[in-house]
Amino acid sequence: MVQFEDYNVQSHYNSLLDLEDASNDFNARQASSVVDTLIRDLFLRRGVQDTLGLTLLHKHFPLDDNTKMVNYGAVAYPWDMADASSEVVRDIYPTAWRFTDTGGIAPYEFGYTQGGAETPGVRKEESAEFLQELQELLQKHNLTSLLGLRLLDAATSEPGVEFTSGSANITLPREVFANNQGRHVEALWVFQKALEGSSGDPLVYKVCKSYCFKDNKGKHVKKHHRTF
Ligand SMILES: [Zn+2]
Repeated sequence: MVQFEDYNVQSHYNSLLDLEDASNDFNARQASSVVDTLIRDLFLRRGVQDTLGLTLLHKHFPLDDNTKMVNYGAVAYPWDMADASSEVVRDIYPTAWRFTDTGGIAPYEFGYTQGGAETPGVRKEESAEFLQELQELLQKHNLTSLLGLRLLDAATSEPGVEFTSGSANITLPREVFANNQGRHVEALWVFQKALEGSSGDPLVYKVCKSYCFKDNKGKHVKKHHRTF
């Protein structure tokens, strides 16, 4: 059984690849051929496709010690845990996980709901076999550093594009960036069964729910001067 590890900024967040490196690695290793077949089939066979999505593991910028990248609404920002009250700390919950170098699994991004959230996550017992199989699959195809899991929630219900402004990552609807699609990197995939009656369609299809925005040099946008 895959062991859950407590979050550590250095080993679980700052060790993530930068967006461009992750994207280049993903393409160079032709990872989509594994995502579109073996990984897709595993999600469906274990029935986790409505709860979990598959992420391209990457970071936007390194975090300071004692911080967590917390998603709240359309904004992800490093929250300082030293400043947070015990109530706030309690109400922060994991939204994304990665397999670790030490053979476990650890959260690397979080969400917050005042009063605490009843969140379906990967910690459920029924996810144990899925996690074991996914870990073995990623190890076999040398993709452990590239692919992780994301909780599907309100924040991931519509396709969005995430860009970096200062030390915040902001997600806006994809339509806003319709003229810049060549600079988007796919960062979250959701597997769905095809609609009934749509004969000829594959049994399952993959939808990208989140993109990350690069500038012309392939880096995350550091400052955002765009007007909408
Ligand atoms: Zn990103």
